[in-house]
Amino acid sequence: MSNLTPIQNGLRQRCGACGEGRLFSAYLKLNEACPHCGRDMRAADTADGPAFFVGFSVLIITAPFLFLIPMSPLPALLKVAAIVVLALLITGLSMWLLPVAKGILLNLQMHHKSGQAEFDRGDG
Ligand SMILES: [Zn+2]
Repeated sequence: MSNLTPIQNGLRQRCGACGEGRLFSAYLKLNEACPHCGRDMRAADTADGPAFFVGFSVLIITAPFLFLIPMSPLPALLKVAAIVVLALLITGLSMWLLPVAKGILLNLQMHHKSGQAEFDRGDG
């Protein structure tokens, strides 16, 4: 049993139950079971949640530069170079944060035993 929280294990991209087994067998490809404790990883599905949180966060951080760079007094060539650097930064930051966000959301789902929503129809 791991002493770390699901978020801490997600940041480390480790199994939320044991804190030892790796969550991913490749970039964003989940293991079917924890290689250390055997916990079934197929029970949780993060869908596009990590992409939403990462995309939104990265956009908030970088969006001001998308306005400031074109309005700056720099020569046009430097503006283009700055936009290219910014695009590479956005891509790199998103690629780096996606597995982290997916690990956190997956561990939180499994920790809180989330599942499909079930509505009470009130007829039984
Ligand atoms: Zn494990």
